[in-house]
Amino acid sequence: MTKYKLEYIWLDGYTPVPNLRGKTQIKEFSEFPTLEQLPLWGFDGSSTMQAEGSSSDCVLKPVRHFPDPARSNGVLVLCEVMMPDGKTPHPSNKRATILDDDGAWFGFEQEYFFYQDGRPLGFPEAGYPAPQGPYYCGVGYKEVGSVARKIVEEHLDLCLAAGINHEGINAEVAKGQWEFQIFGKGSKKAADEMWMARYLMQRLCEGYEIDIEYHCKPLGDTDWNGSGMHCNFSTEFMRTVGGKDYFEKLMGAFGAAIEDHIAVYGPDNHMRLTGKHETAPWNKFSYGVADRGASIRVPHSFVNNEYKGYLEDRRPNSQGDPYQIASQVLKTIASVEIPGSKAAAA
Ligand code: ADP
Ligand code: MN
Ligand code: MN
Ligand code: MN
Repeated sequence: MTKYKLEYIWLDGYTPVPNLRGKTQIKEFSEFPTLEQLPLWGFDGSSTMQAEGSSSDCVLKPVRHFPDPARSNGVLVLCEVMMPDGKTPHPSNKRATILDDDGAWFGFEQEYFFYQDGRPLGFPEAGYPAPQGPYYCGVGYKEVGSVARKIVEEHLDLCLAAGINHEGINAEVAKGQWEFQIFGKGSKKAADEMWMARYLMQRLCEGYEIDIEYHCKPLGDTDWNGSGMHCNFSTEFMRTVGGKDYFEKLMGAFGAAIEDHIAVYGPDNHMRLTGKHETAPWNKFSYGVADRGASIRVPHSFVNNEYKGYLEDRRPNSQGDPYQIASQVLKTIASVEIPGSKAAAA
């Protein structure tokens, strides 16, 4: 038997953005445990905005697990928060009720700032560094400093070793700002892995005395870039049949559902989606081929392939909850009839 270190990880009840929480328990198994072998566990919900002090127990239900590459015999256990009966999802547990579909693929581009001493990593104590321009995909100490690349490389290795579908990294437009991409088939799978990648990044950064700033416009109303979490999506129908007619109906549905999308695309998005700096204004839906100033960017490959492939919703922001973002995208897609389906024939 081996003693495994099980890190139970969950989202707390803070609004508008939940925080990641985690605690460890040690359990013996003869080999790396299966998900079914991982027991329910409790925590004090009164310390996480998930219960009153008088009746504070909440239940952690393991839903995904990964090897924890940073620990010997470690397991990262992603959990849903349940009510004390262990069966009813807690109101803060969004994952339990989202739409999912294995045929729907999601690629999230997580942008964020490294922060130290209350400012982006590499910013001087007073004033600003040289203006934006050379930092995006930059190389060299002057552009990216000495620490950031070490962190993003370590984070990449941790994600890959954990089996998380990390797909790439780039230095972003603002100094101290970076991006990584996570891809998954199914909204739960993609969003689980995004939350786990965020967890691994935050934990890794503790040792560097650096924080991750996920706010979508941490430098406020300046020329410094904000942070998004573009949501690239495709359904099986979009990839295999598609067509211009369906595409236009789909865009019509997205245009009609602006409010529903913005509601779950992350807080303070009006600060970021202003219409300036390659953003579309939050309250006006637009789409365009290779248009980085549109709400939805249509890749060249999509148009060149008879309107088949994936689309990029550029509105979700860096603080958004990928569960709710993916679910809303699926909800809007589901509102459009699939040509040739039973509903369309009726
Ligand atoms: P850009 O910065 O140009 O917008 P990125 O390379 O950062 O593009 O991100 C593109 C994202 O699109 C990746 O996360 C990738 O996984 C995702 N993607 C590619 N093909 C598909 C697809 N068929 N369905 C959903 N997402 C996809
Ligand atoms: Mn990108
Ligand atoms: Mn980007
Ligand atoms: Mn993008």
